[in-house]
Amino acid sequence: MNNDVLVVHGPMHAQRPLVLDSPHSGFQMPSDFRAKLSEVVCEADLRDGEDCHIDELYRPAASLGIPLLAAQFPRTWLDPNRHAGDIDLALMDGGHWPDAHVPSGKARIGKALIWRTLDDGRPIYARPLSVAEVRQRIARYHQPYHAMLQTLLDNAQAAFGVVYHLNCHSMNAVSGVMGEGGAGVARADMVLGDRDGTTCDPAFTEFVRATLASFGYDVKINDPFKGVELVRAYSNPARGRHSLQLEVNKRLYMDGSNGAKHAGFATLQAHLMQLIDALGRRYAPTPRHA
Ligand SMILES: [Zn+2]
Repeated sequence: MNNDVLVVHGPMHAQRPLVLDSPHSGFQMPSDFRAKLSEVVCEADLRDGEDCHIDELYRPAASLGIPLLAAQFPRTWLDPNRHAGDIDLALMDGGHWPDAHVPSGKARIGKALIWRTLDDGRPIYARPLSVAEVRQRIARYHQPYHAMLQTLLDNAQAAFGVVYHLNCHSMNAVSGVMGEGGAGVARADMVLGDRDGTTCDPAFTEFVRATLASFGYDVKINDPFKGVELVRAYSNPARGRHSLQLEVNKRLYMDGSNGAKHAGFATLQAHLMQLIDALGRRYAPTPRHA
């Protein structure tokens, strides 16, 4: 599967009960994005919210038979890690949204389904958005991404009875003005998010934490990132569906000044593939229909 909305690296049917997704590493700019921008924002600024290189970082998992879903569009255009009803009314024409409104509270920092501001607080759009264009954006980008993630999880669970989902992100080394917890806060090497123990078996979180810590990383849990919609929406630990968010610190693999990968990328990638391999062995299944 490969189009301008999403790519699935690896098989549609997981060969281990693992599924990966990278919702924020896309940077293909929709053709009409530039025309909508405020005068204080340029196209390069729209990569502000990007989890740069994250799909590439995890891509070797595909050769282990583990699907990796990657969004191709920028997070500033639409954030798939939000409920489709998480509309920022301050961005809407007339402050009005006629469909289901499911606010997460992220509109407060300008980061609801469709971002209103960049990380430094600059407004992204020159004018409010119409109901029609927001509906179209949800149908064209949000729905296919979510449908594909659900299909990959369903396929794996149908084969193995359980599925473990890693929702893959990266975070800035230091928080910005609009960041969680306020500006200027240095981040840990890694942050795991299971929404305070509700989206997966605590043993899964602990296994990932301990494995990453064994490589020497400083790992925090649910602090400050607990995970958002993609770990919430399809998880159901009691029924064998486990989702965990994994944030890696950008300073481990890229240069803060120009966004290029540095020598740490290969080391981090090797560690993450060791983690994936360890998870594959820990949850090595007896296929139901072998
Ligand atoms: Zn992210």
